[in-house]
Amino acid sequence: MDDNADIVQYLRNLLKEYYSKSHLYVDRIEQREFGFGGFNRKIDRRHMAFKNTKELKEYVVSDAPFFVSYSTAYYNDPAGRPMENKGWLGSELVFDLDVTDMNIPCRAVHPKDWVCKSCFTAVKEETLKLIEDFLIPDFGFSDKDIKVNFSGNRGYHVHVSSEDVLRLREEARKQISNYITGHGLSFQKFFPTSGQKGKALLGPKPADLGWGGKISSNFLKAMGNGIEGLMKLGIEREVAVRLYKKRALVEMGIKNGNWDMVYIKKKQEFWQRIVEAEAIMQSDKIDRNVTIETSHLIRLPDTIHGSTGLVSKALVSTKSLSSFEPMDECIAFNNNIELKIVPKITQEIYMNGQVFELEAGKQKSIPIYVAIYLYLKGFAEITIK
Ligand SMILES: [Zn+2]
Repeated sequence: MDDNADIVQYLRNLLKEYYSKSHLYVDRIEQREFGFGGFNRKIDRRHMAFKNTKELKEYVVSDAPFFVSYSTAYYNDPAGRPMENKGWLGSELVFDLDVTDMNIPCRAVHPKDWVCKSCFTAVKEETLKLIEDFLIPDFGFSDKDIKVNFSGNRGYHVHVSSEDVLRLREEARKQISNYITGHGLSFQKFFPTSGQKGKALLGPKPADLGWGGKISSNFLKAMGNGIEGLMKLGIEREVAVRLYKKRALVEMGIKNGNWDMVYIKKKQEFWQRIVEAEAIMQSDKIDRNVTIETSHLIRLPDTIHGSTGLVSKALVSTKSLSSFEPMDECIAFNNNIELKIVPKITQEIYMNGQVFELEAGKQKSIPIYVAIYLYLKGFAEITIK
């Protein structure tokens, strides 16, 4: 059966069942705006508000939305329209990290919307980098102010709800976004004697705050990874070998801010690569806008993502991120039912501890969560009976 309407109805029944058993928790729920979407539409209703989680649960059980979003902002009157009438009280600082922004080798091999194990690992590492290299050391947020949610599809949402950030206006949020993406950093600022004849090349020390420290410690980290590590920074093998041989001297120099122990060809490009390696990848304007805009709606944690059938799961703590596996831990529909699918691609897919081989055009019985994931992503047709 390939009748779309029947499948949509089937999925809505599954959503109803999921939500009837769910425990949704929303911090400051009475001050949040909600938005809902149907099949293939992320938001088709917004400016909605709920007094408590009981009301919200009743709504999602009866409506079975494919997407549930809530505002990162708090309002006096979240249902007020237009936006100016809501009475803005503040917004969380939110970062949307999505693997489609990342330049990793597998993304040139598989379809754009396919998310393989390497994709999940890369976006997880990027999220850890945001928290451990920026939010905690540079901005001084503590673990308890930071909440991480799997987005339900290709990445993670990081919410900071410390009092210090809530009232930040869009311009300040833009500066934060620029900072973490390394946007507009000046080489001259970090290497002030660059280009001055007869003067030693002074540069940042690992103990420096902010980007200076990152540039310096990243170089030392690369050197710690040997000649290959240095070459990854764009240094020619011959120079990398020379540097590595004088490793102790070079390290001592940089620790004291003297970069002249190091001969580096094309300094500017070399430095730019270190910045790129450390910066958070947010090439996509949409993802940057999640951080900048104060009126954004974002997936509500622990609801189903209608493009995957996975749960947009709230992590217990930032510490649990390093061992988190979305394809094991975010499966919503796991009731021992198998469905028949016809894959559109030849790929293997990992879910729930198992690898499934897919062959384009070849019908296969597969657990319901794999079938729904592939169907919603457009990688398979589905047969429900
Ligand atoms: Zn991949």
